[in-house]
Amino acid sequence: MPTYIVLLGPPGVGKGTQAKIIAERTGLPHVSSGDLFRENIHGQTELGKLAQIYINKGELVTDDATIAMIRERLSRPDCAFGALMDGFPRTPAQADAFSEMLADFGGKVDHVPCLLAPEEMLVERLSGRWTCRAQGHVFHQRHNPPQKPGVCDMDGSELYQRDDDKIETVRRRIQVYAAQTELLIAYYRRRGLLTEIDGGRPVEEVTADLLAILEPK
Ligand code: AMP
Repeated sequence: MPTYIVLLGPPGVGKGTQAKIIAERTGLPHVSSGDLFRENIHGQTELGKLAQIYINKGELVTDDATIAMIRERLSRPDCAFGALMDGFPRTPAQADAFSEMLADFGGKVDHVPCLLAPEEMLVERLSGRWTCRAQGHVFHQRHNPPQKPGVCDMDGSELYQRDDDKIETVRRRIQVYAAQTELLIAYYRRRGLLTEIDGGRPVEEVTADLLAILEPK
């Protein structure tokens, strides 16, 4: 049976950073809805053109477009054994659609670790964040600066500031999380799947907690 993990938490809490590490350790593919949208924007697809309108405002892309994109991604062969979801689902309608989709794939949501951190920490982390063009590695101008300014330590590609990491958009994204995505904490808690983790600690400590949850019981 495939394994599906949903990494929940507000923007800037470290989902992407942790998802990359956990994907490597577990062998599950990292499926990031934000990365998929950014690939579509970069490739100037119809979906990319639609998504950009919402993303630049810090709003959520429509459920229908998002769900169709994720279904297509999860039906590729590398997801045959499951996936580590980062940024999806983000609304109760997406969570319901996700369960139905996983039933079609012969699976279910197995674990929902939720990373939490105070709002001011999220704003500070996002507004100082620099992302690599090639693979989305992230750096922080103060807490985790690259060795050479503007260049990714891992793959040498250019670092850029995401448009939606500008301060006004960051605040809006956090509001949208509180209004639409936070509902999923109760949604998955009711189903006995949720574990809260303090995401304000050093990366290695958070990773250790995540791996402890994901180890087969
Ligand atoms: P992220 O990289 O996860 O911070 O996502 C960046 C942006 O992509 C979000 O602010 C949304 O505009 C959009 N997005 C990502 N995932 C979803 C989703 N599951 N549903 C709707 N919009 C999404």
